[in-house]
Amino acid sequence: MSIVKKPDWKANWYLIGIFSGLWFTLKTMVINIFNKDKMPTVNYPEEKYEYGPRFKGNHVLTVKKDGSVRCTACMLCATNCPANCITIAAAEHEDPTVEKYPISYEIDILRCVFCGFCEEACPVDAIRMGPEWQTPGLGHQDFHYDIQKLAYRANLKGGVLSRVDDEERHHAGI
Ligand code: SF4
Ligand code: SF4
Repeated sequence: MSIVKKPDWKANWYLIGIFSGLWFTLKTMVINIFNKDKMPTVNYPEEKYEYGPRFKGNHVLTVKKDGSVRCTACMLCATNCPANCITIAAAEHEDPTVEKYPISYEIDILRCVFCGFCEEACPVDAIRMGPEWQTPGLGHQDFHYDIQKLAYRANLKGGVLSRVDDEERHHAGI
């Protein structure tokens, strides 16, 4: 059984609601002006929020000691990507000890949902999600990240070295 309450007399006087709303806004504004330090908002871009070390921002393709990308074009990241935004083209490597490598690796960052599944799926620590989150661009072309951008963009200072050591893996027979 539902009980429908009759609106009381205050509900018929809209001005009371309007003025109490305006009073609340004015009061909050004055409190905030005199307590700027306690305001929960961040004055971006002058102030920037410090995210934790586990934050998953822009992707990085890691590199080996010789500077080449670590990715073996196994497609596990692309297969696990729920947004279907990773496109990889594999090619045979000249080195017979390397099965294949990505001749092209692209992420459409506008479709990415930053879930981290690609990083989790990679068996060789070839893709990581770093602390960068500011991704300005003028057109769609600026949001298609290719190997050059993913592995060698200027702020990575030539590339992020993989934690997986090839020599150690070789000695361990992996
Ligand atoms: S973070 Fe998620 S959505 Fe983005 S590329 Fe990786 S798997 Fe795809
Ligand atoms: S980044 Fe990792 S999971 Fe993706 S294709 Fe390369 S090796 Fe495979």
